[in-house]
Amino acid sequence: MIIVMDHQANDAHIEAVVARLARAGFQIHLSQGVERTIIGAIGDKTQLKNISLEAIPGVEKVVPVLQPYKLASRAFHEEGTLIRVGGLKIGGDTIHVIAGPCAVESRNQLLEAAKIVKEAGATMLRGGAFKPRTSPYSFQGLEEEGLKLLAEAREATGLLIVTEVMDVRTLPMVAEYADILQIGARNMQNYFLLREVARVDKPVLLKRAPSATFEEWLMAAEYIMAGGNYKVILCERGIRSYENYTRNTLDLSAIPVIKHLSHLPVLVDPSHATGKWRFVPAMAKAAIAAGADGLLIEVHPNPPEALCDGPQSLNPDNFSSLMVDLKQLAPALGRKLS
Ligand code: PEP
Ligand code: MN
Repeated sequence: MIIVMDHQANDAHIEAVVARLARAGFQIHLSQGVERTIIGAIGDKTQLKNISLEAIPGVEKVVPVLQPYKLASRAFHEEGTLIRVGGLKIGGDTIHVIAGPCAVESRNQLLEAAKIVKEAGATMLRGGAFKPRTSPYSFQGLEEEGLKLLAEAREATGLLIVTEVMDVRTLPMVAEYADILQIGARNMQNYFLLREVARVDKPVLLKRAPSATFEEWLMAAEYIMAGGNYKVILCERGIRSYENYTRNTLDLSAIPVIKHLSHLPVLVDPSHATGKWRFVPAMAKAAIAAGADGLLIEVHPNPPEALCDGPQSLNPDNFSSLMVDLKQLAPALGRKLS
Protein backbone atom coordinates (compact mmCIF):
# COMPACT_ATOMS: atom_id res chain seq x y z
CA MET A 1 0.00 0.00 0.00
CA ILE A 2 1.02 3.61 -0.25
CA ILE A 3 0.51 6.22 2.39
CA VAL A 4 0.09 9.68 0.96
CA MET A 5 1.17 12.35 3.44
CA ASP A 6 -0.60 15.70 3.38
CA HIS A 7 0.99 19.02 2.37
CA GLN A 8 1.71 20.04 5.92
CA ALA A 9 3.29 16.78 7.03
CA ASN A 10 6.72 17.36 8.57
CA ASP A 11 9.62 14.99 9.21
CA ALA A 12 8.29 14.00 12.62
CA HIS A 13 4.94 13.00 11.10
CA ILE A 14 6.68 10.94 8.46
CA GLU A 15 8.93 9.27 11.01
CA ALA A 16 5.95 8.36 13.19
CA VAL A 17 4.23 6.59 10.30
CA VAL A 18 7.45 4.85 9.24
CA ALA A 19 8.08 3.67 12.80
CA ARG A 20 4.54 2.29 13.13
CA LEU A 21 4.84 0.43 9.83
CA ALA A 22 8.30 -0.89 10.67
CA ARG A 23 6.96 -2.28 13.95
CA ALA A 24 4.35 -4.19 11.97
CA GLY A 25 7.15 -5.68 9.83
CA PHE A 26 6.68 -3.58 6.70
CA GLN A 27 9.49 -2.79 4.30
CA ILE A 28 9.52 0.98 3.77
CA HIS A 29 10.33 2.94 0.63
CA LEU A 30 10.11 6.72 0.76
CA SER A 31 9.32 8.78 -2.29
CA GLN A 32 9.82 12.49 -1.70
CA GLY A 33 7.98 14.36 -4.45
CA VAL A 34 7.89 18.10 -5.05
CA GLU A 35 4.44 18.41 -3.52
CA ARG A 36 4.30 15.69 -0.93
CA THR A 37 5.88 12.56 0.48
CA ILE A 38 4.62 9.13 -0.36
CA ILE A 39 5.48 6.17 1.83
CA GLY A 40 5.53 2.83 0.07
CA ALA A 41 4.88 0.00 2.53
CA ILE A 42 5.33 -3.59 1.52
CA GLY A 43 4.27 -6.29 3.92
CA ASP A 44 1.37 -8.10 5.48
CA LYS A 45 -1.58 -5.77 6.12
CA THR A 46 -3.07 -8.08 8.74
CA GLN A 47 -0.11 -7.20 10.98
CA LEU A 48 -1.59 -3.73 11.38
CA LYS A 49 -4.53 -5.32 13.24
CA ASN A 50 -6.94 -2.52 14.06
CA ILE A 51 -4.53 0.35 13.62
CA SER A 52 -5.95 3.07 11.42
CA LEU A 53 -3.06 4.73 9.64
CA GLU A 54 -5.39 7.49 8.48
CA ALA A 55 -5.73 8.58 12.09
CA ILE A 56 -2.01 9.33 12.41
CA PRO A 57 -1.31 13.08 12.08
CA GLY A 58 0.04 14.08 8.68
CA VAL A 59 -1.54 11.18 6.80
CA GLU A 60 -3.86 12.22 4.00
CA LYS A 61 -4.88 8.82 2.70
CA VAL A 62 -3.91 5.19 2.45
CA VAL A 63 -4.19 3.64 -0.99
CA PRO A 64 -3.82 -0.05 -1.75
CA VAL A 65 -1.59 -0.72 -4.77
CA LEU A 66 -3.43 -3.34 -6.71
CA GLN A 67 -0.67 -4.14 -9.19
CA PRO A 68 1.89 -6.72 -8.09
CA TYR A 69 4.67 -4.25 -8.85
CA LYS A 70 4.61 -1.51 -6.26
CA LEU A 71 7.80 0.56 -6.36
CA ALA A 72 7.83 0.54 -10.15
CA SER A 73 4.21 1.72 -10.35
CA ARG A 74 3.02 5.25 -11.12
CA ALA A 75 1.01 5.13 -7.93
CA PHE A 76 4.24 5.11 -5.93
CA HIS A 77 5.80 8.00 -7.84
CA GLU A 78 3.48 10.25 -9.81
CA GLU A 79 6.15 12.22 -11.64
CA GLY A 80 8.44 10.52 -14.12
CA THR A 81 11.70 9.47 -12.49
CA LEU A 82 14.93 11.17 -13.48
CA ILE A 83 17.98 8.95 -13.28
CA ARG A 84 21.14 10.93 -12.65
CA VAL A 85 24.38 9.51 -13.90
CA GLY A 86 27.70 11.25 -14.50
CA GLY A 87 26.12 14.70 -14.84
CA LEU A 88 23.37 13.45 -17.20
CA LYS A 89 19.69 13.04 -16.45
CA ILE A 90 17.78 10.19 -18.07
CA GLY A 91 14.03 10.80 -18.22
CA GLY A 92 12.49 14.26 -18.53
CA ASP A 93 12.68 16.46 -21.61
CA THR A 94 16.06 15.40 -22.88
CA ILE A 95 16.50 12.45 -25.21
CA HIS A 96 19.72 10.50 -24.82
CA VAL A 97 21.31 8.36 -27.47
CA ILE A 98 23.50 5.48 -26.34
CA ALA A 99 25.43 4.19 -29.32
CA GLY A 100 28.34 1.96 -30.17
CA PRO A 101 29.20 -1.51 -31.36
CA CYS A 102 27.42 -4.66 -30.29
CA ALA A 103 30.70 -5.99 -28.93
CA VAL A 104 34.06 -4.53 -28.02
CA GLU A 105 36.32 -6.18 -30.59
CA SER A 106 39.62 -4.32 -30.46
CA ARG A 107 41.16 -1.06 -29.27
CA ASN A 108 41.01 0.48 -32.75
CA GLN A 109 37.44 -0.58 -33.40
CA LEU A 110 36.18 0.74 -30.06
CA LEU A 111 38.04 4.04 -30.03
CA GLU A 112 36.99 4.69 -33.61
CA ALA A 113 33.35 3.88 -32.79
CA ALA A 114 33.47 6.10 -29.70
CA LYS A 115 34.81 9.02 -31.70
CA ILE A 116 32.14 8.61 -34.38
CA VAL A 117 29.19 8.43 -31.99
CA LYS A 118 30.50 11.29 -29.85
CA GLU A 119 30.89 13.57 -32.86
CA ALA A 120 27.38 12.75 -34.01
CA GLY A 121 25.93 13.67 -30.59
CA ALA A 122 25.59 10.49 -28.53
CA THR A 123 26.11 10.92 -24.78
CA MET A 124 26.88 7.33 -23.90
CA LEU A 125 28.87 4.51 -25.46
CA ARG A 126 27.54 0.97 -25.59
CA GLY A 127 29.65 -2.14 -26.15
CA GLY A 128 29.55 -5.65 -24.77
CA ALA A 129 32.60 -7.22 -23.18
CA PHE A 130 30.57 -10.27 -22.18
CA LYS A 131 28.25 -11.32 -25.00
CA PRO A 132 25.18 -13.55 -24.68
CA ARG A 133 25.58 -15.36 -28.02
CA THR A 134 23.07 -17.92 -29.26
CA SER A 135 25.92 -20.16 -30.43
CA PRO A 136 28.76 -21.21 -28.13
CA TYR A 137 31.03 -21.09 -31.20
CA SER A 138 30.45 -17.38 -31.83
CA PHE A 139 32.68 -14.59 -30.49
CA GLN A 140 31.93 -14.35 -26.78
CA GLY A 141 33.56 -11.00 -25.97
CA LEU A 142 36.92 -9.73 -24.74
CA GLU A 143 35.84 -9.84 -21.08
CA GLU A 144 38.04 -7.74 -18.77
CA GLU A 145 40.25 -6.55 -21.62
CA GLY A 146 37.05 -5.22 -23.25
CA LEU A 147 36.03 -3.44 -20.06
CA LYS A 148 39.44 -1.76 -19.91
CA LEU A 149 39.03 -0.57 -23.47
CA LEU A 150 35.63 0.86 -22.59
CA ALA A 151 37.21 2.76 -19.72
CA GLU A 152 39.88 4.06 -22.09
CA ALA A 153 37.18 5.19 -24.55
CA ARG A 154 35.39 7.02 -21.72
CA GLU A 155 38.64 8.72 -20.81
CA ALA A 156 39.21 9.76 -24.43
CA THR A 157 35.71 11.03 -25.21
CA GLY A 158 33.87 11.73 -21.95
CA LEU A 159 31.11 9.33 -23.03
CA LEU A 160 29.54 7.30 -20.24
CA ILE A 161 29.80 3.52 -20.56
CA VAL A 162 26.85 1.13 -20.83
CA THR A 163 27.83 -2.53 -20.83
CA GLU A 164 26.15 -5.84 -20.16
CA VAL A 165 26.61 -7.91 -17.04
CA MET A 166 25.73 -11.55 -17.59
CA ASP A 167 26.21 -13.21 -14.26
CA VAL A 168 26.79 -12.66 -10.58
CA ARG A 169 30.39 -13.89 -10.70
CA THR A 170 31.52 -11.12 -13.03
CA LEU A 171 29.27 -8.40 -11.57
CA PRO A 172 31.94 -6.84 -9.29
CA MET A 173 34.32 -6.62 -12.24
CA VAL A 174 31.76 -5.12 -14.65
CA ALA A 175 30.53 -2.69 -11.99
CA GLU A 176 34.07 -1.40 -11.54
CA TYR A 177 34.16 -0.15 -15.15
CA ALA A 178 30.53 0.53 -16.16
CA ASP A 179 28.53 3.70 -15.59
CA ILE A 180 25.29 1.85 -16.35
CA LEU A 181 24.87 -1.90 -15.97
CA GLN A 182 22.91 -3.51 -18.77
CA ILE A 183 20.81 -6.58 -18.05
CA GLY A 184 20.22 -8.27 -21.38
CA ALA A 185 16.92 -9.61 -22.65
CA ARG A 186 17.97 -13.18 -21.92
CA ASN A 187 18.63 -12.37 -18.28
CA MET A 188 15.55 -10.28 -17.54
CA GLN A 189 14.18 -13.00 -15.31
CA ASN A 190 17.49 -14.08 -13.78
CA TYR A 191 16.29 -13.18 -10.31
CA PHE A 192 19.60 -13.93 -8.60
CA LEU A 193 21.35 -11.50 -10.92
CA LEU A 194 18.59 -8.90 -10.42
CA ARG A 195 18.97 -9.19 -6.66
CA GLU A 196 22.71 -8.68 -6.91
CA VAL A 197 22.54 -5.60 -9.19
CA ALA A 198 20.08 -4.21 -6.67
CA ARG A 199 22.99 -4.01 -4.23
CA VAL A 200 25.21 -2.01 -6.59
CA ASP A 201 24.99 1.77 -6.57
CA LYS A 202 24.80 2.14 -10.36
CA PRO A 203 21.84 2.60 -12.71
CA VAL A 204 20.57 -0.56 -14.38
CA LEU A 205 19.35 -0.71 -17.97
CA LEU A 206 16.82 -3.53 -17.90
CA LYS A 207 15.95 -4.93 -21.32
CA ARG A 208 12.62 -6.57 -21.93
CA ALA A 209 12.82 -10.32 -22.50
CA PRO A 210 11.63 -11.39 -25.96
CA SER A 211 8.41 -12.88 -24.62
CA ALA A 212 7.86 -10.93 -21.42
CA THR A 213 4.55 -9.27 -20.70
CA PHE A 214 4.60 -5.72 -19.35
CA GLU A 215 3.79 -7.08 -15.93
CA GLU A 216 6.67 -9.58 -16.00
CA TRP A 217 9.02 -6.82 -17.13
CA LEU A 218 7.91 -4.47 -14.37
CA MET A 219 8.19 -7.29 -11.83
CA ALA A 220 11.81 -7.72 -12.90
CA ALA A 221 12.30 -3.98 -12.26
CA GLU A 222 10.58 -4.47 -8.92
CA TYR A 223 13.23 -7.02 -7.89
CA ILE A 224 15.95 -4.43 -8.41
CA MET A 225 14.02 -1.66 -6.67
CA ALA A 226 12.90 -3.79 -3.74
CA GLY A 227 16.56 -4.65 -3.24
CA GLY A 228 17.32 -0.95 -2.77
CA ASN A 229 18.38 0.23 -6.23
CA TYR A 230 15.74 2.65 -7.57
CA LYS A 231 17.80 3.60 -10.61
CA VAL A 232 16.16 1.38 -13.19
CA ILE A 233 15.89 2.32 -16.86
CA LEU A 234 13.69 0.10 -19.02
CA CYS A 235 14.56 -0.78 -22.61
CA GLU A 236 12.16 -2.21 -25.20
CA ARG A 237 14.16 -4.23 -27.75
CA GLY A 238 11.51 -6.10 -29.70
CA ILE A 239 9.53 -9.18 -28.85
CA ARG A 240 9.19 -12.58 -30.47
CA SER A 241 6.29 -12.80 -32.92
CA TYR A 242 5.39 -15.01 -35.90
CA GLU A 243 7.16 -12.56 -38.22
CA ASN A 244 10.71 -13.54 -39.05
CA TYR A 245 11.59 -11.00 -41.72
CA THR A 246 12.76 -8.77 -38.91
CA ARG A 247 14.77 -10.25 -36.04
CA ASN A 248 12.09 -9.28 -33.51
CA THR A 249 8.95 -7.16 -33.61
CA LEU A 250 9.35 -3.73 -32.07
CA ASP A 251 6.51 -3.22 -29.63
CA LEU A 252 6.09 0.54 -29.88
CA SER A 253 3.02 0.35 -27.66
CA ALA A 254 5.38 -0.58 -24.82
CA ILE A 255 6.40 3.07 -24.58
CA PRO A 256 3.03 4.69 -23.80
CA VAL A 257 1.85 1.65 -21.85
CA ILE A 258 4.91 1.54 -19.57
CA LYS A 259 4.79 5.29 -19.14
CA HIS A 260 1.18 4.93 -18.02
CA LEU A 261 1.91 2.07 -15.61
CA SER A 262 5.30 3.17 -14.33
CA HIS A 263 7.40 6.24 -13.54
CA LEU A 264 10.61 4.68 -14.86
CA PRO A 265 12.33 6.02 -18.00
CA VAL A 266 11.92 3.93 -21.15
CA LEU A 267 14.49 3.57 -23.91
CA VAL A 268 14.15 1.76 -27.21
CA ASP A 269 16.70 -0.41 -29.00
CA PRO A 270 15.70 -0.40 -32.68
CA SER A 271 18.81 -2.39 -33.65
CA HIS A 272 17.95 -5.66 -31.91
CA ALA A 273 14.26 -5.02 -32.61
CA THR A 274 14.66 -5.03 -36.39
CA GLY A 275 17.94 -6.89 -36.91
CA LYS A 276 18.45 -4.93 -40.14
CA TRP A 277 20.24 -1.57 -40.31
CA ARG A 278 17.94 -0.32 -43.08
CA PHE A 279 14.96 -0.19 -40.73
CA VAL A 280 16.73 1.20 -37.69
CA PRO A 281 16.33 4.95 -38.46
CA ALA A 282 12.57 4.70 -39.05
CA MET A 283 12.01 2.78 -35.82
CA ALA A 284 14.32 5.12 -33.89
CA LYS A 285 12.25 8.12 -34.99
CA ALA A 286 8.98 6.29 -34.30
CA ALA A 287 10.20 5.48 -30.78
CA ILE A 288 10.93 9.14 -30.08
CA ALA A 289 7.55 10.14 -31.51
CA ALA A 290 5.92 7.62 -29.15
CA GLY A 291 7.60 9.22 -26.14
CA ALA A 292 10.77 7.20 -25.53
CA ASP A 293 13.39 8.81 -23.30
CA GLY A 294 16.24 7.68 -25.47
CA LEU A 295 17.68 5.11 -27.82
CA LEU A 296 20.22 2.31 -27.71
CA ILE A 297 21.70 1.96 -31.18
CA GLU A 298 24.37 -0.28 -32.62
CA VAL A 299 26.98 1.58 -34.65
CA HIS A 300 30.12 0.02 -36.10
CA PRO A 301 32.95 1.78 -37.98
CA ASN A 302 32.77 -0.98 -40.58
CA PRO A 303 29.65 -3.16 -40.20
CA PRO A 304 30.58 -5.84 -42.78
CA GLU A 305 33.61 -6.70 -40.62
CA ALA A 306 31.74 -6.74 -37.29
CA LEU A 307 32.22 -9.84 -35.14
CA CYS A 308 28.70 -9.48 -33.82
CA ASP A 309 25.45 -8.03 -35.23
CA GLY A 310 26.97 -6.39 -38.32
CA PRO A 311 23.69 -6.64 -40.30
CA GLN A 312 21.87 -4.43 -37.81
CA SER A 313 24.69 -1.95 -37.16
CA LEU A 314 24.56 1.52 -38.63
CA ASN A 315 27.67 2.74 -40.39
CA PRO A 316 29.05 6.17 -39.41
CA ASP A 317 27.23 8.06 -42.21
CA ASN A 318 23.86 6.51 -41.50
CA PHE A 319 24.22 7.16 -37.80
CA SER A 320 25.15 10.81 -38.36
CA SER A 321 22.18 11.40 -40.62
CA LEU A 322 19.84 9.75 -38.13
CA MET A 323 21.16 12.08 -35.44
CA VAL A 324 20.51 15.10 -37.69
CA ASP A 325 16.92 13.90 -38.18
CA LEU A 326 16.46 13.34 -34.44
CA LYS A 327 17.74 16.83 -33.69
CA GLN A 328 15.02 18.22 -35.94
CA LEU A 329 12.31 15.90 -34.71
CA ALA A 330 12.83 16.38 -30.96
CA PRO A 331 11.72 20.06 -30.69
CA ALA A 332 8.53 19.30 -32.63
CA LEU A 333 7.68 16.91 -29.80
CA GLY A 334 8.60 19.30 -27.01
CA ARG A 335 11.84 17.42 -26.34
CA LYS A 336 15.47 18.09 -27.02
CA LEU A 337 18.35 15.91 -28.03
CA SER A 338 21.11 16.11 -25.45
C1 PEP B 1 22.82 -6.12 -26.62
O1 PEP B 1 22.28 -5.01 -26.42
O2 PEP B 1 24.03 -6.23 -26.82
C2 PEP B 1 22.03 -7.35 -26.56
C3 PEP B 1 22.60 -8.55 -26.49
O3 PEP B 1 20.71 -7.14 -26.61
P1 PEP B 1 19.48 -8.04 -26.09
O4 PEP B 1 19.82 -8.46 -24.70
O5 PEP B 1 18.33 -7.10 -26.18
O6 PEP B 1 19.36 -9.19 -27.04
MN1 MN C 1 23.95 -6.81 -30.54
